[in-house]
Amino acid sequence: MTESRLVCSGCGWQPPADASYPFRCEQSGRDDRDHVLVHRLSSEAILDHGGDENPFVRHRESLYAWHAARARGMSDAAFVELVNRIDERIAAVDGRGFRPTPFARVAAFGEDPGCEVWVKDETGNVAGSHKARHLMGILLYLLVTERGEGLAPLAIASCGNAALAAAVLAHAAARPLQVFVPPHAERAVLAQLHALGATVVSCPRAAGERGDPCVHRFHEALRAGALAFCCQGNENGLAIDGGETLVYEMLACGSPPLDDLVVQVGGGALASACMQAYARAVAAGLLPRAPRVHTVQTRGAAPLSRAWSRLERQRGSSETTPDEALAYATAHRSGFMWPWEQTPHSIAEGILDDETYDWVAVLRGMTATGGTTVVVDEETLKEANRLALKNTGIAVSHTGSAGLAGLIQLRRDGLIATGARAGVLFSGVQR
Ligand SMILES: [Zn+2]
Repeated sequence: MTESRLVCSGCGWQPPADASYPFRCEQSGRDDRDHVLVHRLSSEAILDHGGDENPFVRHRESLYAWHAARARGMSDAAFVELVNRIDERIAAVDGRGFRPTPFARVAAFGEDPGCEVWVKDETGNVAGSHKARHLMGILLYLLVTERGEGLAPLAIASCGNAALAAAVLAHAAARPLQVFVPPHAERAVLAQLHALGATVVSCPRAAGERGDPCVHRFHEALRAGALAFCCQGNENGLAIDGGETLVYEMLACGSPPLDDLVVQVGGGALASACMQAYARAVAAGLLPRAPRVHTVQTRGAAPLSRAWSRLERQRGSSETTPDEALAYATAHRSGFMWPWEQTPHSIAEGILDDETYDWVAVLRGMTATGGTTVVVDEETLKEANRLALKNTGIAVSHTGSAGLAGLIQLRRDGLIATGARAGVLFSGVQR
């Protein structure tokens, strides 16, 4: 029997079986511990059913939504039909449904990064980035479990790709959506959000306000009854599942195993999803070992790098094992992760989150795989984007090519070997 359950990685709390919306640990915010609901899945789960083009059909058994459906008596065939039905509506809204995105070696990078570069191109995914994958995991859960009229509105805090993805999926599912955006959000994005029927709320930063004002207003909406439809695991643990389909796709296309994967980090959900997917794939015997997963932030905002340094210091000063140091960090959140003091700036504006919300999962994944964090300057971000456009022709944004910037910096620092096979994720189309 395949086991699938949600467990708080901070305190071990498990939502009751009849919980309607098991998105967040009930102890969250009550102490200094970091609480995130994680989907624990036993290794018997079939991560790849093969065949079908839709990743949410092909990799459905990795999703908590699929297990919730089965536990409620829904047949596997009915779940597949449900995925295909909502996918058709998504395609009607966005012009494309969920399909495997390209993953290929970029031969023409030549000697620039000095290693073999493989790119997973998410710019052609639903809504132009990987964000829709995270949200699809949540939406499928809602479609499987909810019944009746007058369903609660969905809510998200985002200034770009995640908001667009949420608006496309919510529109396809005929659900009202509240989007909390900063005042400087791009006009083109706001116009698309309005066209998709979202309620857009501008959230200026009050003088001296700590943390992201959009997140504060989002929390107020949740307290008023809205449901977290977002890409942060701490707000909705089900956001991580859907992102994992990226890695299963990379494994399914028959490419040789990567030595290193370099992931841009804002809130941390993408990196968390990649790490979790590799851990599941290794446990299921789909590959012998995970690549080293490294994370990239900008000089503008690098709260994860700060937390990583503090974790290393903790390990060194108390001579603890990596697991003990991580357990200490989880129980003492405020000593490792806090909002950036100054309003951050970078050309890669999509990864300027005030905090790395999924930081514990990401620190754990880097520790487990032997990865590290890297902080890149604006020049390297520009160089990476120039190389990306020149050598791949993919119209990726500076945020979207930030993983390549990290790869370039890691090569300069001697932390990725010459000739290594390294992967990056291009996500976020240039607007
Ligand atoms: Zn908890």
